[in-house]
Amino acid sequence: MRYSIGVDVGGMSIKVGIVDENGVIIAQNRVKTAKTATQCINNLVDQINQLLDENNVSISEVNGIGIGCPGAVSPEIGLVNFLPNLGWENVELVKELKKYFNLEIKIANDASVAVLAEARYGVAREYNSCLMFTLGTGVGGGMVIDKKLYDGGYGRGGELGHITLDLNGEPCTCGRRGCVETYVSATALIKQTKNAMLLDKTTKMWDFVGGDIEKVDGRTAFECSKMGDKTATAVVDKYVYYLSESILSFLNVFRPDAFILGGGISLQGDYLTDKVTAYCEKSSYGYKDAPKTKIVTAKLGNDAGIIGAACLI
Ligand SMILES: [Zn+2]
Repeated sequence: MRYSIGVDVGGMSIKVGIVDENGVIIAQNRVKTAKTATQCINNLVDQINQLLDENNVSISEVNGIGIGCPGAVSPEIGLVNFLPNLGWENVELVKELKKYFNLEIKIANDASVAVLAEARYGVAREYNSCLMFTLGTGVGGGMVIDKKLYDGGYGRGGELGHITLDLNGEPCTCGRRGCVETYVSATALIKQTKNAMLLDKTTKMWDFVGGDIEKVDGRTAFECSKMGDKTATAVVDKYVYYLSESILSFLNVFRPDAFILGGGISLQGDYLTDKVTAYCEKSSYGYKDAPKTKIVTAKLGNDAGIIGAACLI
C-alpha cells in the first residue's frame, strides 16, 4: 500500500492526515495555528513526521504531500498569495516544505480540494463532472470536469460564489455588489432570517431561539419551516430561489452530471436538495429536454479537506 499526506489548513488549526490509495484516512492529527507562517510551517513539518512515526509509515511509502488552503493560492508556483485569517502574505509554502521533504508537494484552494474529494471518493464518484458550492460563512466554489479539477487560469478561478445575482444588490466582501455569496452563504441566510423575525413578532422562530435573535443560525428558518411556520417558510422559499437561480447559471454553462452542496446549510440534506431540484428542473434552459443534473449533498464532511488535499498528488 502507498500513501499520500493530506494537509487541511484552517483558520484555527492545521489538520494532517495519512490517506491510503482508497481515499481512506488511516490516521490524522491537528495542531492549533501559530502566530507566524514560519512557526506554522515548522509545526507542520513536526506534525507530518510525528504522524508517520506513530503509524509506522516510512517516508518511502509516501507519494507526496497535498495541501488545501483558504484564501488565494497560486498552485503553479506553490505560493500562498493571501490568507487573511492567518495573516499570511506571499508565503512560499511548497518551497519551504521542500527543504524538509524530498517529495511531490502541491497546493490548491480549499474549495477546489473539497470538490476533488467528493468527485473521487464522495457523493459524486460515479460522475464525470460536478460542480460544488460550500455554503458556509462565505460561498466556496469548485469544479471537476471530466474527472479533473478545473480551477481556472493560474488556479485562481472557480470563484462560483462571486457571479452576480443582482447588480444593485448587497455589498460583497470582494468589493462588488450582489454576488451569489451575499444571498446564499450561511451569513446571508442568518441575516435574512433575522430581518423576517424583526417584521413578525409572532413567528415560531422567536421561541426556537429562546427570544434571543443573536442565537439565530443557519438552521433556524429551516427547522421552523418544517414545523409549519409561515414566516420561516417564506425565508426558506426565498433562500431556495436565490440558491437555485445561482445554480442554474452554472447548469446552463456546464451541464454537469452533479451539483454538490456542502457546508453547514447543506446538512438540511434532501429537504433542501429536493426543493432546489424541483426549481432547477422547471427553469433550466431547454426546459423539459434539458439534461438533468443531480443536486446532491456532500458526504465527506470535515474529512473532505484532508482527502481532497491528498488527491492533489
Ligand atoms: Zn463577491
